[in-house]
This record gives sequence, structure tokens and C-alpha cells, in this order.
Amino acid sequence: MKYSIFSLAKAALTGHKGWGRAWRDAAPKAHYDVVIIGGGGHGLATAYYLAERYGIRNVAVLEKGWIGSGNAGRNTTIIRSNYGLPGNTGFYELSMKLWERMEQDLNYNTMVSQRGIINLYHSDAQRDAFARRGNTMRINGIDAELLDKAAVRKMLPFLNHDNARFPIMGGLVQRRGGTARHDAVVWGYARAADGLGVDIIQNCEVTGFVRDHNGRITSVETSRGRIGAGKVGMAVAGNSSRVAAMAGLRLPIESHVLQAFVSEAIKPLIPGVITFGAGHFYVSQSDKGGLVFGGDIDGYNSYAQRGNMPVIEDVCEGGMALMPMISRVRMLRNWGGIMDMSMDGTPIIDKSPVDGLYLNAGWCYGGFKATPASGLVFAHLMATDAPHEEAWRFRLDRFERGAMIDEKGQGAQPNLH
Ligand SMILES: Cc1cc2nc3c(=O)[nH]c(=O)nc-3n(C[C@H](O)[C@H](O)[C@H](O)COP(=O)(O)OP(=O)(O)OC[C@H]3O[C@@H](n4cnc5c(N)ncnc54)[C@H](O)[C@@H]3O)c2cc1C
Repeated sequence: MKYSIFSLAKAALTGHKGWGRAWRDAAPKAHYDVVIIGGGGHGLATAYYLAERYGIRNVAVLEKGWIGSGNAGRNTTIIRSNYGLPGNTGFYELSMKLWERMEQDLNYNTMVSQRGIINLYHSDAQRDAFARRGNTMRINGIDAELLDKAAVRKMLPFLNHDNARFPIMGGLVQRRGGTARHDAVVWGYARAADGLGVDIIQNCEVTGFVRDHNGRITSVETSRGRIGAGKVGMAVAGNSSRVAAMAGLRLPIESHVLQAFVSEAIKPLIPGVITFGAGHFYVSQSDKGGLVFGGDIDGYNSYAQRGNMPVIEDVCEGGMALMPMISRVRMLRNWGGIMDMSMDGTPIIDKSPVDGLYLNAGWCYGGFKATPASGLVFAHLMATDAPHEEAWRFRLDRFERGAMIDEKGQGAQPNLH
């Protein structure tokens, strides 16, 4: 639907009556060419690109709750492409380029804000590692700057630069990094996919797979009945091992809780995103003024969308070491999401060993920034049966071949989001 300044003003003055729905509440059809399981950012983006780039429009996205009820609506909204390993560098920069034109592509305000991200370093060895990563980024055409102690002090004067354990020696900056509004991203992809004919079906949990005599998946069993499918794509993030198990697969993925926190609103303080990996703490400030922060995963396997006290204590300690005045800010709320932790911290985007079933999983705590590229390369894989040129390394069999992509800060190591 197109809006003019007059129709917008009229809607505002008349209580938004007659405002069109952003997407249809579709009822399941008997059969789709492609069924995507999971109405998070990745599933919806996949459906959008299947329709928009590959002309496959007989597509359903099945979501057990409501779209965005998983990690897509629970993350701390950081986007960046400051990766250093082959496989990751090109993929995350593809994603960054898609973020940069997302609002035009989707005709939706996803509040992409390139306010910059800085990763702090505290030792010579860490500086060398960041310099290597920054150089790799620049060789690949990605912006990176290595700041020294004085430059970080000037940029972020409110930090405790001389804390005894981890004095700040500098930082690696990506100015094109930043944040985007997570649920607007979900809604933007949902609206655009729906506009191209995709059925978004909520309250529809996949409970099993139906296979023919050759073992190929032909349908999914759901809480709303059996739905036929030419191909099935899994984009269920923290539930990956559970859904894969229904097809008889055991994935190299564990599920862990990751918590996040938001404070009461304060005046503008933090210019971009700050990560303090050594102290397991990172922070940004939302447009409403709240400090949005987090730290490490809860260290046990769980499918609960809530965490426990030891991590809350650990995150608050990290925050106070970095910026002691945070102790005077009141916490508004905290929450948790289920992370699909792959064994090397890198995703799996591949055909599965089960004919007709495709995998998009293993995002750990960094999949929000990947949303657009993940959707695009997964759509490519499902449409063409060949990996996208930026995603061919994300194979399932890399664990048995020893071709891991073990990027520091992505997997079980201290996280930087
Ligand atoms: C606290 C926290 C902070 C984070 N911070 C960042 C960050 O700053 N930057 C970043 O890049 N990443 C971050 N992440 C990670 C990021 O949110 C995830 O990697 C990403 O959202 C996963 O992809 P998704 O959006 O598709 O997942 P989800 O939104 O979880 O989508 C999966 C969907 O599948 C549905 N589903 C599951 N099982 C079934 C079933 N059987 N049938 C039907 N539907 C099913 C779920 O209900 C869910 O809606 C964070 C995550 C958390 C929890």
C-alpha cells in the first residue's frame, strides 16, 4: 500500500482506523514448493529472497509461536563485518552491504544505524591479533581502524581506562558497524515476503517429517495438520538440534542460553557499540536512551528462554570494571534466548544428509548481523541446489574433514557479538 503525506496525516488524526495489515494471517495450503521452518529473521529473509531473487513464490514460513518471538526479537541488535577468517570475511561483508540498502530494498524503516563498533584491547598480543584482523578486513575492502590508547581515551572519556586487571591499550574500530531495530527487521522481511505471495503461518509448530520410500521428505507434520513440501528449509536457531532430531539427524550443535539487559533511559552517552571481550561485557545505547548490554552465555545446555544469576553477576561485574558509573543506573529488565552453538562458532548452511531437507543453523550469539546474507545464501542454496559463492565453506561435513572456521570470539571463546 502506498501512503501520501495526506493519507498519513488523516490516519494519525483518525486513530489509524483502516490501516492495512503489514502481512496476511495465512492459513496453510496442502502443498508448497518450499516450506521454511522458523519465522525468525533468517527464515523470513530466506522466504523473501526465494520470491524476490529466484521467482519461487509458492513458499510458506511456519512459525510455532509468533514471528520474531525467538532470538530475532531478543538480541542486542549489533551489526558488523569485522571478521578475519576466509569464509566469514566475505559473507559478513555481503551482509553489511545488504544492511546498507535494506530500507530501500524492503521499503521499510529498519532503523539501521551505522554508529560504529569498537573492540577494546588490553595487551600487546591482543593488539597484534586485532591489527591482523584489521589488515585482513582492509585487504578485503572492509573499513577498519586500529586506535591507540590516546585515541580511545579521547573517543570514550567516560571509561575506566586504567583498571588494574585490563587497562585499555586501544581498540579496533569499524565505523560502518552499529545497530538495527531487530523486530522492525522481522516485520520488514515479513511484509515484503507477504507482498510477493509468501504465506506466513504463525502458531504452526512442526512436529515431524514425512518421507517417501526413497527417504526423501515430502511433507511436514504440524500442529495445524500435514503440509506437503517440495523442499524444506530449517531456520530454527536454538531449536536446531530438536528439529533435526525429528529427521533422524544429530547436529554438531549445542543449545545454550544467552542473556541480555537494558537499563532505564539516560541521556546520550555511548556513541556506538563497545565490546570489552576480556571482561565479557559489551554495551550500546538504544534510541530511547537505555543502555543495552550483555556478556557470556550461561555455561550449561538448555532450551529455556531464561538464564540464571551467576551470569547476571558476571555481566554486572564486567560493566562496572569498564564503566564504574553504570552501578548508579537502574536495570529495567533482562531476558534470554536460545543459542545454537556450533562447535567452531561458524554457521552451517548446507544440504542435509536427508534428501529434501536443507540446514541453516549454528549461528551462536552472532546471527542477527547475518540475517540478510543468511537469507540470501540459503535461498540460493534451496533454489539452485548449489552453495552461494560466499557460503560454500559453511558445510556440515567440515567437522569430519577438519576444515573448521574457528574465528576468535564466535564460539565457546569469549564473545564479542
Ligand atoms: C540475548 C541475545 C543477544 C544477541 N545479540 C546479538 C547481536 O548483538 N548481534 C548479532 O548478530 N546476534 C545476536 N544474537 C544472536 C541472534 O539473535 C541469532 O543468532 C539470530 O537471531 C538467529 O536467527 P533467527 O533470527 O532466524 O532466529 P529465531 O528468531 O530464534 O528464529 C527461529 C524461529 O524458529 C521457531 N521454531 C523453533 N522450532 C520450531 C518448530 N518446531 N516449528 C516451527 N517453528 C519453530 C522459533 O519459535 C523461532 O521463532 C543475540 C541473541 C540473544 C539471545
